[in-house]
Amino acid sequence: MKNKKLDLFLNYIKSFEFSIFVVTLIVIIVPILVIGTIFLNVSTSKYYNNRLEEYKSNNIMLKNNIISSGYLDKKESEAVNAQINLLSNEFDARIQIIDTACIIREDSKSEDIGNTSISKNVFKALKGEDVMEENKDLEYIEFSIPLVATITTVEEGSIKKTVGVLCTNYSTANISNYRSDVRRVVYIAFALGAIFALVVAFICAKFFARPIKRVGEIIKDVKHRRGVENLDEIKDYTEVKQILSDFNTMIDNFYAEQKKRDDFVSNVSHELKTPITSMKVLADSLVGAEGAPEEMYQEFLVDISNEIERESQIINDLLELVNTENVENEINISQVNINDVLESVLKTVKPIAEEKNIEVVYESFRPIIADVDELKFARVVTNLVENAIKYNQVDGTVTVSLNADHQYFYFKVQDTGIGIPEEDQDRVFERFFRVDKARARETGGSGLGLAITKEIVKRHHGSIGVHSKEEEGTTFTVRIPLKYIEE
Ligand code: ADP
Repeated sequence: MKNKKLDLFLNYIKSFEFSIFVVTLIVIIVPILVIGTIFLNVSTSKYYNNRLEEYKSNNIMLKNNIISSGYLDKKESEAVNAQINLLSNEFDARIQIIDTACIIREDSKSEDIGNTSISKNVFKALKGEDVMEENKDLEYIEFSIPLVATITTVEEGSIKKTVGVLCTNYSTANISNYRSDVRRVVYIAFALGAIFALVVAFICAKFFARPIKRVGEIIKDVKHRRGVENLDEIKDYTEVKQILSDFNTMIDNFYAEQKKRDDFVSNVSHELKTPITSMKVLADSLVGAEGAPEEMYQEFLVDISNEIERESQIINDLLELVNTENVENEINISQVNINDVLESVLKTVKPIAEEKNIEVVYESFRPIIADVDELKFARVVTNLVENAIKYNQVDGTVTVSLNADHQYFYFKVQDTGIGIPEEDQDRVFERFFRVDKARARETGGSGLGLAITKEIVKRHHGSIGVHSKEEEGTTFTVRIPLKYIEE
């Protein structure tokens, strides 16, 4: 039970719907996060810089007032006191004026007047350095600014001299508060954005995964062997219709292949059964004919032997066809003298040709060496020439011609025989196809010769064609590349 739930969950994670969900979520949430973070940083740093500028200009104004009013000598200045009051109230600042002996001469909180300051920043400022120090934990920025006055002495004339230090300490709590406020707004925006992203991602996932689910549902409903019916009536995306149409093509091809196999098996069974039936009839006749003359036995046994011969030829041809068709069976390619092969085949078939007084003419236009499987190629030539003799008239002619261009060699087997009816010309390469079924028994062919021939030519990446006219003759043309093309 637990495993089933886990499987369902894992399946969902691997689903297209979930991928769309995640991608949409990322596409929406990442920009929201980036924009929110940039907004937070830019707005707080702008606020911080503005405050800093304000503090610095306050400092300059106060410093100038202190120096111009000679505050450290007179110890009193209405304007300076008023400004110190204003800054400490308005900016929550603490302001101290320290003399060169580090004695605190003025303190906005009055607590430390008369005390000695031992701050290292004051020492630095007394040496003429402008110091700014920020403490983020305690939330303040402290400035220590040297008060430089122009002093005129008899000995040295007018010289610039540090006469004290102005210390201003501004609370930065307002900056932190501002940052917290902006952050709160950004977090709320993040939360709303996340909710929005979840809703949109959910809708997108459902919407975009729907066509795929629909394809699945339609295919699931398909009845045995029929594919998707009424495809034209389905109103859907072009892609969905394309997938369904491809699915239909696949189903058609699948069943066409299956039918071809079934037909082949039933043809094979039929072809193998025919000689066996004949043998059974012949044998039964002998069994039933008690005391039959010896000549009859002799004659019937010769017939039985012929049937056995026929059966074994069918089986051999079948094995050869299946072997040639199986691409895993290598073919033995070598450089072969094609003229020699043709001449040797013609020599072997000569006696059969002579039986019907058929003249065999050989025309070779050039010597040709090509990459072929010699035995298989010889089988092609033998099949075509034997057929040209078998289906020829008495006193006919068989012309075999050989030629080549720079890529292919061609050979033609032309006869003056009975020809093939036009409607059967495409079918002669089918297994067990014979134009004249009754005559086939006389000629004794298995009906597999041309199927084997075509298969061998195909394995050499060549082509075979037939041209025929009834009662005039037939020409088979074979074209094979001179160089074997590796698969
Ligand atoms: P078969 O063993 O019957 O000769 P093939 O596959 O070689 O088988 O040939 C198939 C059929 O094609 C033959 O039965 C015959 O009807 C026809 N055929 C083949 N070659 C010729 C030809 N040269 N002239 C006329 N018909 C032919």
